[in-house]
Amino acid sequence: MSLPVRVTVTAKVEAVTPKGDEGLLVEFLKAYRDSVQLVINEIWGLSEVPSRTELHVMFYNRLMKHGFRAHHAKEIYVYAESLVDSARSNGGRKPVLRRLSARVDRYDYKLDLDNMVLTLKLHNGYEARLKLVSSKERVEKFKGWGNYELVVKYDGGGFWVSIYFKRTIKPLKPRTVMAVDLNFDNITLAVLTLDGRLVKLKRFKTPHRKVLTHRIWVERIQKRYPRSWRFIKGVRKAIDKHGERLRNISWDYAHKVGDLVAELALKHRSVIVLEDLEKLRENNKKDKRFNKRLGLWSYRRIQFCVEYEAGERNLEVAKVNPRGTSSKCPRCGKKLAENKHRVLRCRKCNFIGDRDVIATINLYKKFVSKYPRCGVPGVILNAPKLDENPSGMQGKRDEAMKTHQLI
Ligand SMILES: [Zn+2]
Repeated sequence: MSLPVRVTVTAKVEAVTPKGDEGLLVEFLKAYRDSVQLVINEIWGLSEVPSRTELHVMFYNRLMKHGFRAHHAKEIYVYAESLVDSARSNGGRKPVLRRLSARVDRYDYKLDLDNMVLTLKLHNGYEARLKLVSSKERVEKFKGWGNYELVVKYDGGGFWVSIYFKRTIKPLKPRTVMAVDLNFDNITLAVLTLDGRLVKLKRFKTPHRKVLTHRIWVERIQKRYPRSWRFIKGVRKAIDKHGERLRNISWDYAHKVGDLVAELALKHRSVIVLEDLEKLRENNKKDKRFNKRLGLWSYRRIQFCVEYEAGERNLEVAKVNPRGTSSKCPRCGKKLAENKHRVLRCRKCNFIGDRDVIATINLYKKFVSKYPRCGVPGVILNAPKLDENPSGMQGKRDEAMKTHQLI
């Protein structure tokens, strides 16, 4: 069996030669957005969302007349269709696009990782050459991978691209399942056998609190100079310094923890189960564990590193919907109540356990029920207890916890 591994790399880009291409790229993005909107407007009123073939008949020629390339046209109506589809299924209103972003097919761009140059094919035969402003080291490892699609964005201040890379691996046959639960303060992981026996429980502290402090500093400075901070050199410098510190802490941590998690998974021959953060957004109710002020980007960054390191070791990664995993009883499915700090208890069946450990058990259960080839989850009696004050990445870096039998 072979398995595709997909990762997304987001990097800042800046226009290079010839000068003035920035304008062209913005023009392209505007035309792209307006065209997506046009398609949305026309299909919104229809009783049924048209099929791909119907969309092609309806819009292909018109979009080509606007100067788009064949794959641009396809991306535009497919994207519009997906927006209409999800708005309808959520009972939402007609989507109105404001942001400038475009999905670009791999036939419409060239990526030269040796020189860190990205060439985008735009409307009317124009091209834009962009320089990837990102550490070469970060991108270098994807040289042997295939790239299939990218999203380019303009946020008023600069251009960003997210490039999707993929590669095929031959995954090792898993012997255990490692469920990873991301939190603001810690990452908790549990390795369980396919029949539900707990092999390993581990917790890593995260630097998110520190990251947040830097972020708050930046916000404070910006608030103090609401209009002028961009233009005062000293202020901008201070902001850049915090920003850089923040990025460094966050990336360093993600790399380290990605490596540790994957190494442990290799040792136990685990399939790694992560929370699907995209589903979390759809679930609407924001999970309390993910600090809103920090956003989801830092969790995504950690997942990115875990996925990458897992791929390097031919380990499989699966994502499951995190809905309810941190609040429901893993034994009977009832909503859990807080017993004391970090400890939850089920009023129906008296199951009791550490909040984060419960989340990992629920993730594990969701995974095995979704992929029954892995066996049947065992009966979990009680979640093993964690120490009250787990120490973390600083100093000791991580904390090994006792191994428990769950039966
Ligand atoms: Zn229960």
